[in-house]
Amino acid sequence: MKKIVLVLVIFLTVAACKVNPFTGKKVLNFYPNSQVFPMAFAQYDQFLTENNVIENSADSKMITKVGQRISSAAERWLVANGYPGYLKDYKWEYNLVKDETVNAWCMPGGKIVFYTGILPITQTERGVAVVMGHEVAHALADHGAQRMSAGTLQQIGAVAGNVAIQDPNKRNMFNQAYGLGSNVLGMLPFSRSHETEADRIGLQIMAIAGYNPDEAAQLWKRMKANSGGQAPPEFMSTHPSNDTRINNLTEWAPAAKQEAAKFGVTKFQ
Ligand SMILES: [Zn+2]
Repeated sequence: MKKIVLVLVIFLTVAACKVNPFTGKKVLNFYPNSQVFPMAFAQYDQFLTENNVIENSADSKMITKVGQRISSAAERWLVANGYPGYLKDYKWEYNLVKDETVNAWCMPGGKIVFYTGILPITQTERGVAVVMGHEVAHALADHGAQRMSAGTLQQIGAVAGNVAIQDPNKRNMFNQAYGLGSNVLGMLPFSRSHETEADRIGLQIMAIAGYNPDEAAQLWKRMKANSGGQAPPEFMSTHPSNDTRINNLTEWAPAAKQEAAKFGVTKFQ
């Protein structure tokens, strides 16, 4: 029976690997958008009904504006690189909720939430663009779906002899992978490699959107300063800010500007 499970795991791994345009890497992902997105959209709507959404304030309008610029930059990049229609199933939405937690996230399919608690750290529209670019990058790189897929493989491994793949209880899988439910997202940290990917992709998208990528290193310095002292807030515990991250962002900023120049963007806000 163990052999069957092993074969199944190998089959799923091979069958589910596809190249992500943003990372250029073959990644494990056997949950198509058509399965993941409807769950994400439902969870997002539920989150909005259970939280204090701020509408029509200067900050909420700014969040929407940055989100639109970032998502439009991602779409331009995809078209230019031969992936038109890649985001056709996305239903971008940007909301600000009144909550002092330092947090922001983007669910699969482009459903974004910023918490008011992160605004003192982002400080400006440019700072919001850093976080927006990073969170959107997680979604574009399918990091959440990969986490679900890895979880499924783990589960298959764990129940060797009881081939449970026929009914993997996908909703439960989804909730685990995204840390949804009472805690909403972000409770499970992304791996360090996913963080690095999101940093690099986010930097390019923000630059194409016309935001100065030099801000990214500054933003993460402020995050680092903010995380000192007591127990770090949610965002900081799942997005640990360290010197390597700050150094990377500093080093990559010129390349992000060069990428933006390909889209005619040479001046940055
Ligand atoms: Zn991240």
